Amino acid sequence: MNDISFESALSGRVDLMLDACTRCGKCVEVCPSVRPAGIMDASPKDIISGVLDIVRTGQGHEASGKWATSCMLSGDCIKACDYGVNPRFLLAMARVAMAKAGNEPRDLRRQGVEKFHDLSRDVTVLSRLQLDSEVLERLGQKSASVSRPDEAPDFVFYTGCNVLKTPHIALLALDIMDALGVTYRVMGGPTHCCGVLQLRAGDVEMSGRMGSSTIEKLSRTKSGQVISWCPSCYVQLTETTLPTIERQRGSRPFEMTPFMRFLTDRLEQLMPHLRRRVEMRVALHKHPGVAGIMEAAATVLRAVPGVEIVDLK
Ligand code: SF4
Ligand code: SF4
Repeated sequence: MNDISFESALSGRVDLMLDACTRCGKCVEVCPSVRPAGIMDASPKDIISGVLDIVRTGQGHEASGKWATSCMLSGDCIKACDYGVNPRFLLAMARVAMAKAGNEPRDLRRQGVEKFHDLSRDVTVLSRLQLDSEVLERLGQKSASVSRPDEAPDFVFYTGCNVLKTPHIALLALDIMDALGVTYRVMGGPTHCCGVLQLRAGDVEMSGRMGSSTIEKLSRTKSGQVISWCPSCYVQLTETTLPTIERQRGSRPFEMTPFMRFLTDRLEQLMPHLRRRVEMRVALHKHPGVAGIMEAAATVLRAVPGVEIVDLK
Protein backbone atom coordinates (compact mmCIF):
# COMPACT_ATOMS: atom_id res chain seq x y z
CA MET A 1 0.00 0.00 0.00
CA ASN A 2 2.94 2.36 0.74
CA ASP A 3 3.75 2.93 -2.94
CA ILE A 4 0.40 4.48 -3.80
CA SER A 5 0.57 8.21 -4.44
CA PHE A 6 -1.87 10.55 -2.71
CA GLU A 7 -3.63 11.16 -6.02
CA SER A 8 -4.09 7.43 -6.75
CA ALA A 9 -5.32 6.74 -3.23
CA LEU A 10 -7.78 9.62 -3.52
CA SER A 11 -9.09 8.46 -6.86
CA GLY A 12 -9.48 4.93 -5.42
CA ARG A 13 -11.73 6.37 -2.70
CA VAL A 14 -13.68 8.40 -5.24
CA ASP A 15 -14.24 5.30 -7.43
CA LEU A 16 -15.64 3.37 -4.46
CA MET A 17 -18.13 6.17 -3.75
CA LEU A 18 -19.13 6.49 -7.41
CA ASP A 19 -19.84 2.75 -7.44
CA ALA A 20 -21.78 2.86 -4.15
CA CYS A 21 -24.05 5.75 -5.14
CA THR A 22 -27.48 4.46 -6.27
CA ARG A 23 -28.53 7.89 -7.66
CA CYS A 24 -31.56 7.83 -5.35
CA GLY A 25 -31.38 11.63 -5.04
CA LYS A 26 -32.10 11.80 -1.27
CA CYS A 27 -28.98 13.92 -0.69
CA VAL A 28 -30.30 16.54 -3.12
CA GLU A 29 -33.80 16.47 -1.59
CA VAL A 30 -32.52 17.46 1.87
CA CYS A 31 -29.94 20.01 0.70
CA PRO A 32 -30.60 23.60 1.85
CA SER A 33 -28.48 24.97 -1.03
CA VAL A 34 -30.76 23.71 -3.80
CA ARG A 35 -33.26 26.57 -3.53
CA PRO A 36 -30.69 29.43 -3.36
CA ALA A 37 -28.81 27.78 -6.25
CA GLY A 38 -31.99 28.15 -8.36
CA ILE A 39 -32.11 24.47 -9.37
CA MET A 40 -35.46 23.49 -7.78
CA ASP A 41 -36.88 22.57 -11.20
CA ALA A 42 -34.29 19.87 -11.95
CA SER A 43 -35.00 16.38 -10.59
CA PRO A 44 -32.83 15.27 -7.65
CA LYS A 45 -31.93 12.08 -9.51
CA ASP A 46 -30.75 14.06 -12.54
CA ILE A 47 -28.76 16.43 -10.34
CA ILE A 48 -26.83 13.66 -8.56
CA SER A 49 -26.36 11.73 -11.83
CA GLY A 50 -24.83 14.87 -13.32
CA VAL A 51 -22.49 15.18 -10.33
CA LEU A 52 -21.23 11.64 -10.91
CA ASP A 53 -20.69 12.52 -14.60
CA ILE A 54 -18.75 15.64 -13.65
CA VAL A 55 -16.53 13.69 -11.24
CA ARG A 56 -15.81 11.13 -13.99
CA THR A 57 -15.43 13.44 -16.98
CA GLY A 58 -15.40 17.07 -15.82
CA GLN A 59 -18.78 17.66 -17.52
CA GLY A 60 -22.41 17.04 -16.61
CA HIS A 61 -25.88 18.51 -16.14
CA GLU A 62 -25.78 22.31 -15.70
CA ALA A 63 -27.84 22.09 -12.49
CA SER A 64 -25.29 19.61 -11.09
CA GLY A 65 -22.45 22.11 -11.63
CA LYS A 66 -24.53 24.79 -9.89
CA TRP A 67 -25.23 22.44 -6.98
CA ALA A 68 -21.53 21.65 -6.62
CA THR A 69 -20.54 25.32 -6.50
CA SER A 70 -23.38 26.25 -4.11
CA CYS A 71 -22.56 23.73 -1.36
CA MET A 72 -22.11 25.48 1.98
CA LEU A 73 -20.94 22.38 3.83
CA SER A 74 -24.04 21.94 6.00
CA GLY A 75 -23.60 18.16 6.04
CA ASP A 76 -27.36 17.39 5.75
CA CYS A 77 -26.68 15.24 2.68
CA ILE A 78 -24.26 13.01 4.61
CA LYS A 79 -26.97 12.15 7.15
CA ALA A 80 -29.48 11.47 4.35
CA CYS A 81 -27.41 8.88 2.48
CA ASP A 82 -28.23 5.27 3.38
CA TYR A 83 -25.38 3.84 1.28
CA GLY A 84 -22.31 5.14 3.09
CA VAL A 85 -21.54 7.70 0.39
CA ASN A 86 -20.38 11.17 1.46
CA PRO A 87 -22.11 13.47 -1.06
CA ARG A 88 -20.33 16.54 0.34
CA PHE A 89 -16.99 14.92 -0.49
CA LEU A 90 -18.28 13.95 -3.96
CA LEU A 91 -19.21 17.60 -4.55
CA ALA A 92 -15.69 18.66 -3.55
CA MET A 93 -14.38 16.17 -6.12
CA ALA A 94 -16.84 17.54 -8.71
CA ARG A 95 -15.45 21.05 -8.11
CA VAL A 96 -11.93 19.69 -8.59
CA ALA A 97 -12.99 18.04 -11.86
CA MET A 98 -14.60 21.30 -13.06
CA ALA A 99 -11.47 23.29 -12.16
CA LYS A 100 -9.32 20.79 -14.06
CA ALA A 101 -11.51 20.72 -17.17
CA GLY A 102 -9.94 22.85 -19.87
CA ASN A 103 -7.07 24.09 -17.66
CA GLU A 104 -3.41 23.16 -17.88
CA PRO A 105 -1.91 21.67 -14.67
CA ARG A 106 0.60 24.54 -14.51
CA ASP A 107 -2.30 27.07 -14.45
CA LEU A 108 -4.00 25.16 -11.64
CA ARG A 109 -0.71 25.17 -9.71
CA ARG A 110 -0.30 28.90 -10.24
CA GLN A 111 -3.86 29.64 -9.08
CA GLY A 112 -3.39 27.52 -5.96
CA VAL A 113 -0.07 29.23 -5.17
CA GLU A 114 -1.61 32.68 -5.63
CA LYS A 115 -4.53 31.87 -3.33
CA PHE A 116 -2.12 30.49 -0.73
CA HIS A 117 0.08 33.61 -0.91
CA ASP A 118 -2.96 35.89 -0.53
CA LEU A 119 -4.18 34.00 2.52
CA SER A 120 -0.67 33.88 4.07
CA ARG A 121 -0.28 37.63 3.62
CA ASP A 122 -3.71 38.38 5.14
CA VAL A 123 -3.16 36.09 8.12
CA THR A 124 0.36 37.38 8.77
CA VAL A 125 -0.55 41.07 8.51
CA LEU A 126 -3.77 40.85 10.52
CA SER A 127 -2.30 38.72 13.32
CA ARG A 128 0.81 40.94 13.61
CA LEU A 129 -1.28 44.10 13.71
CA GLN A 130 -3.10 42.73 16.75
CA LEU A 131 -0.52 40.73 18.68
CA ASP A 132 2.95 41.24 20.12
CA SER A 133 5.60 38.60 19.59
CA GLU A 134 5.01 36.89 22.93
CA VAL A 135 1.35 36.24 22.06
CA LEU A 136 2.24 35.25 18.49
CA GLU A 137 4.61 32.73 20.05
CA ARG A 138 1.80 31.39 22.24
CA LEU A 139 -0.27 30.84 19.09
CA GLY A 140 2.55 28.87 17.49
CA GLN A 141 3.42 31.58 14.99
CA LYS A 142 7.15 31.68 15.77
CA SER A 143 7.82 28.08 16.66
CA ALA A 144 5.36 25.42 17.82
CA SER A 145 4.07 26.76 21.14
CA VAL A 146 4.08 24.19 23.94
CA SER A 147 2.23 24.62 27.24
CA ARG A 148 4.79 22.45 29.11
CA PRO A 149 7.87 22.13 26.89
CA ASP A 150 9.51 19.16 28.64
CA GLU A 151 6.63 16.68 28.16
CA ALA A 152 4.79 15.17 25.20
CA PRO A 153 1.52 17.16 25.15
CA ASP A 154 -1.89 15.58 25.77
CA PHE A 155 -3.19 17.26 22.62
CA VAL A 156 -2.14 19.23 19.60
CA PHE A 157 -4.37 22.30 19.22
CA TYR A 158 -4.64 22.97 15.50
CA THR A 159 -5.77 26.53 14.82
CA GLY A 160 -5.89 26.43 11.03
CA CYS A 161 -5.27 29.83 9.39
CA ASN A 162 -8.38 31.99 9.53
CA VAL A 163 -8.79 32.18 13.31
CA LEU A 164 -5.44 34.01 13.41
CA LYS A 165 -7.25 36.98 11.88
CA THR A 166 -9.48 37.05 15.01
CA PRO A 167 -6.88 35.70 17.46
CA HIS A 168 -8.81 36.52 20.65
CA ILE A 169 -10.95 33.43 19.91
CA ALA A 170 -7.97 31.06 19.76
CA LEU A 171 -6.41 32.68 22.84
CA LEU A 172 -9.64 32.15 24.77
CA ALA A 173 -9.59 28.48 23.76
CA LEU A 174 -6.03 28.21 25.15
CA ASP A 175 -7.08 29.92 28.41
CA ILE A 176 -9.86 27.34 28.79
CA MET A 177 -7.45 24.46 28.15
CA ASP A 178 -5.07 25.93 30.76
CA ALA A 179 -7.94 26.15 33.25
CA LEU A 180 -8.79 22.50 32.56
CA GLY A 181 -5.16 21.53 33.19
CA VAL A 182 -4.59 19.75 29.87
CA THR A 183 -1.26 20.11 28.12
CA TYR A 184 -1.10 21.05 24.47
CA ARG A 185 1.08 22.12 21.59
CA VAL A 186 -0.29 24.84 19.30
CA MET A 187 0.18 24.44 15.57
CA GLY A 188 -1.42 26.23 12.65
CA GLY A 189 -1.12 29.17 10.31
CA PRO A 190 0.22 29.08 6.75
CA THR A 191 3.16 26.81 7.73
CA HIS A 192 0.59 24.14 8.63
CA CYS A 193 -1.69 24.44 5.61
CA CYS A 194 -4.58 21.94 5.31
CA GLY A 195 -4.35 22.05 1.50
CA VAL A 196 -7.92 23.21 0.87
CA LEU A 197 -6.88 26.18 -1.28
CA GLN A 198 -4.87 23.97 -3.61
CA LEU A 199 -7.75 21.48 -3.79
CA ARG A 200 -10.20 24.26 -4.66
CA ALA A 201 -7.85 25.34 -7.43
CA GLY A 202 -7.89 21.74 -8.76
CA ASP A 203 -4.24 20.99 -7.86
CA VAL A 204 -4.73 17.62 -6.13
CA GLU A 205 -1.03 16.77 -6.05
CA MET A 206 -0.02 19.96 -4.22
CA SER A 207 -3.03 19.74 -1.91
CA GLY A 208 -1.97 16.21 -0.97
CA ARG A 209 1.62 17.32 -0.40
CA MET A 210 0.62 20.24 1.84
CA GLY A 211 -2.00 18.26 3.76
CA SER A 212 0.25 15.22 4.26
CA SER A 213 3.13 17.38 5.51
CA THR A 214 0.79 19.05 8.01
CA ILE A 215 -0.59 15.68 9.16
CA GLU A 216 3.01 14.56 9.73
CA LYS A 217 3.69 17.61 11.93
CA LEU A 218 0.44 17.19 13.86
CA SER A 219 1.15 13.52 14.64
CA ARG A 220 2.92 14.30 17.90
CA THR A 221 0.26 13.87 20.52
CA LYS A 222 0.13 11.63 23.59
CA SER A 223 -3.61 11.06 23.24
CA GLY A 224 -3.77 10.35 19.49
CA GLN A 225 -6.19 13.30 19.28
CA VAL A 226 -5.79 16.65 17.56
CA ILE A 227 -8.18 19.37 18.70
CA SER A 228 -9.21 21.60 15.85
CA TRP A 229 -10.71 25.03 15.77
CA CYS A 230 -11.40 25.70 12.09
CA PRO A 231 -14.39 23.83 10.57
CA SER A 232 -13.18 24.05 6.97
CA CYS A 233 -9.74 22.65 7.93
CA TYR A 234 -11.60 19.95 9.90
CA VAL A 235 -13.68 18.98 6.85
CA GLN A 236 -10.65 19.10 4.54
CA LEU A 237 -8.46 16.97 6.81
CA THR A 238 -11.10 14.47 7.99
CA GLU A 239 -12.90 13.97 4.66
CA THR A 240 -10.09 14.32 2.14
CA THR A 241 -6.61 14.04 3.66
CA LEU A 242 -6.78 11.62 6.63
CA PRO A 243 -8.93 8.95 4.92
CA THR A 244 -6.69 9.15 1.84
CA ILE A 245 -3.55 8.75 3.96
CA GLU A 246 -5.29 5.81 5.65
CA ARG A 247 -5.80 4.24 2.23
CA GLN A 248 -2.14 4.90 1.37
CA ARG A 249 -0.64 3.58 4.62
CA GLY A 250 -3.29 1.31 6.11
CA SER A 251 -3.85 3.51 9.20
CA ARG A 252 -4.41 7.11 10.17
CA PRO A 253 -2.03 8.78 12.63
CA PHE A 254 -4.67 10.50 14.78
CA GLU A 255 -8.31 11.47 15.07
CA MET A 256 -9.50 15.08 15.07
CA THR A 257 -11.87 16.50 17.67
CA PRO A 258 -13.59 19.86 17.14
CA PHE A 259 -12.96 22.20 20.10
CA MET A 260 -16.66 22.36 21.07
CA ARG A 261 -16.89 18.57 21.32
CA PHE A 262 -13.64 18.54 23.32
CA LEU A 263 -15.33 20.90 25.80
CA THR A 264 -18.53 18.88 26.19
CA ASP A 265 -16.44 15.72 26.71
CA ARG A 266 -15.00 17.55 29.74
CA LEU A 267 -18.15 19.27 30.94
CA GLU A 268 -17.73 17.93 34.49
CA GLN A 269 -14.26 19.46 34.73
CA LEU A 270 -15.54 22.66 33.16
CA MET A 271 -18.58 23.14 35.45
CA PRO A 272 -16.68 24.27 38.59
CA HIS A 273 -15.20 27.13 36.51
CA LEU A 274 -18.64 28.39 35.46
CA ARG A 275 -19.36 30.22 38.72
CA ARG A 276 -20.36 33.72 37.65
CA ARG A 277 -23.95 34.35 36.51
CA VAL A 278 -24.17 35.81 33.03
CA GLU A 279 -27.68 37.19 32.48
CA MET A 280 -27.99 36.81 28.73
CA ARG A 281 -30.45 35.59 26.11
CA VAL A 282 -28.40 33.98 23.35
CA ALA A 283 -29.40 32.91 19.83
CA LEU A 284 -27.02 30.59 18.02
CA HIS A 285 -26.29 31.27 14.36
CA LYS A 286 -26.03 27.63 13.37
CA HIS A 287 -23.30 26.28 11.11
CA PRO A 288 -23.97 22.57 11.48
CA GLY A 289 -21.29 21.32 9.03
CA VAL A 290 -19.27 19.42 11.64
CA ALA A 291 -21.36 16.71 13.28
CA GLY A 292 -22.29 17.47 16.88
CA ILE A 293 -20.80 20.96 17.24
CA MET A 294 -24.08 22.88 17.38
CA GLU A 295 -25.40 20.54 20.06
CA ALA A 296 -22.07 20.87 21.91
CA ALA A 297 -22.20 24.68 21.75
CA ALA A 298 -25.75 24.66 23.16
CA THR A 299 -24.71 22.26 25.95
CA VAL A 300 -21.82 24.49 27.02
CA LEU A 301 -24.01 27.62 26.91
CA ARG A 302 -26.73 25.95 28.99
CA ALA A 303 -24.10 25.11 31.61
CA VAL A 304 -23.38 28.82 32.16
CA PRO A 305 -25.62 30.08 35.00
CA GLY A 306 -28.02 32.79 33.80
CA VAL A 307 -27.74 32.06 30.05
CA GLU A 308 -30.96 31.37 28.19
CA ILE A 309 -30.85 30.02 24.64
CA VAL A 310 -33.44 31.50 22.29
CA ASP A 311 -34.49 29.24 19.44
CA LEU A 312 -34.75 31.27 16.23
CA LYS A 313 -36.41 28.33 14.39
S1 SF4 B 1 -24.98 9.98 -2.53
FE1 SF4 B 1 -26.29 8.63 -1.31
S2 SF4 B 1 -28.20 9.79 -1.03
FE2 SF4 B 1 -27.07 10.77 -2.71
S3 SF4 B 1 -27.87 9.78 -4.57
FE3 SF4 B 1 -26.04 8.65 -3.99
S4 SF4 B 1 -26.83 6.96 -2.71
FE4 SF4 B 1 -28.49 8.48 -2.83
S1 SF4 C 1 -23.11 19.67 2.58
FE1 SF4 C 1 -23.45 20.88 0.73
S2 SF4 C 1 -24.47 19.45 -0.65
FE2 SF4 C 1 -24.59 18.55 1.36
S3 SF4 C 1 -26.62 19.20 2.12
FE3 SF4 C 1 -25.10 20.70 2.84
S4 SF4 C 1 -25.07 22.33 1.33
FE4 SF4 C 1 -26.10 20.55 0.41
